[in-house]
Amino acid sequence: MHREGAIRFGGLRGRGGALLLGARRSRRFNVESAEALDSLTPPAVRTLKRRKRRAPSGCRIDARGRKHFFRQALGLVSTAVAPRTRQRPTAPALPAPTATAVARLGAAPARRTITALVPALLEWFAASARAMPWRQTHDPYAVWVSEIMLQQTQVKTVIPYWERWMRDLPDVAALAGAPAAKVLKLWEGLGYYSRARNLHAAAQLIVEKFGGRFPHAFPEILELPGIGRYTAGAIASIAYNQPAPILDGNVMRVLTRVFGIDGDPRGKATNQQLWALATHLVEHAARTPDSAKTRACSQLNQSLMELGALVCTPRQPACPVCPARKSCIAHRDQRTHELPALAPRAATTARRFVAFVITRAGRHLVQQRPSGGVNAGLWEFPNLELAAAAALTDRVVLATGRVVRPTTRLGSLTHSITRYRITVEIYRAELWEDPPQPHEHWVSASELEELALTSAHRKIVARMR
Ligand code: SF4
Repeated sequence: MHREGAIRFGGLRGRGGALLLGARRSRRFNVESAEALDSLTPPAVRTLKRRKRRAPSGCRIDARGRKHFFRQALGLVSTAVAPRTRQRPTAPALPAPTATAVARLGAAPARRTITALVPALLEWFAASARAMPWRQTHDPYAVWVSEIMLQQTQVKTVIPYWERWMRDLPDVAALAGAPAAKVLKLWEGLGYYSRARNLHAAAQLIVEKFGGRFPHAFPEILELPGIGRYTAGAIASIAYNQPAPILDGNVMRVLTRVFGIDGDPRGKATNQQLWALATHLVEHAARTPDSAKTRACSQLNQSLMELGALVCTPRQPACPVCPARKSCIAHRDQRTHELPALAPRAATTARRFVAFVITRAGRHLVQQRPSGGVNAGLWEFPNLELAAAAALTDRVVLATGRVVRPTTRLGSLTHSITRYRITVEIYRAELWEDPPQPHEHWVSASELEELALTSAHRKIVARMR
């Protein structure tokens, strides 16, 4: 007997959930999750490896007494061989922790959908995947950098950034040892700079804690700064082919439509249901024949992302050419425009800033944003926020205490960050007084190019050329 909350193998116990079943005498074993392997204590792993050599194939007996054989184990696991059973083959048993999602949808239809969807997606992705430079490698560092860059940013924007980053900082050690200014400069223009700072901090942690080798275990990946459940799943599945689920906006859209799920996908209950379905799908991929060889978990997760990006788009999904159309409830019921049922987002807020270009002897005055705040460490022209209807006076006191006098209006630009719609009015200006200020520098035009500026202020530099 096994019980949840323990790992057993022929009497062995490790950390984690109920993941291994064992029968010492028959030398059979079952590994239900790669995470289980990662959670094993080193002595347990050594013992398992010894036994694995004596018992080259594993066997799992499910609740109905059917046997499921596995050829590989110990991260080594994921290739499932067709069940050796005299009973008519049926859908594989679903892992207990996630069975509720399927129960909610109706177990049999959901299993049928999962069984049909996985091979259809794998076949479609093999034929239709876009070429992307990070898809040429399984290096977890390269996958990690690409996944962080792709958050909130389109593929075509990310490609040159990723290529430049990998050229300048090709591995964890290079990133960990790079100065913060270089990391921010390489990120300049991608926005959401906390992502770059987290990459830097995580690389330093990997060097310190894992000797520079990117961790393999899902919980260890998840602990790194800036890595949430989605990114950890993407790295674990794409780099290591582990059956770890992913759920981003694209995948949410695909799953809510295919399974006809009505709730708000960002609401807690529906979100959990979607994570569970994503888990079932990738675990089903792990059980397909030759899944290790074909990297089925990696391919399945990427196919979901790709389908959401290319075919199952928000406004005009291309259902006639979709590999999921035969299983898709939204397509069948003509409800693609209703799903996903996203709750309305908070309305955007307009904000107005004035930036001052102050030049003296060919050098421009710039200031560095303080640590701990938005865009910390980046550079910008002196500026201040004004109320929408406020008039600009001829003597402006900045937040730093610096007093400036606007002279000529150079124009304006707009910029969006999260829910803020920002307008920046640009003025040439002079200093009213000239006491030295911390965080300020006078820089030449070429030095300005070398600094990491906030996105809006990089646009100001482009206007000055
Ligand atoms: S059939 Fe249409 S709605 Fe359904 S997954 Fe495909 S593109 Fe999306």
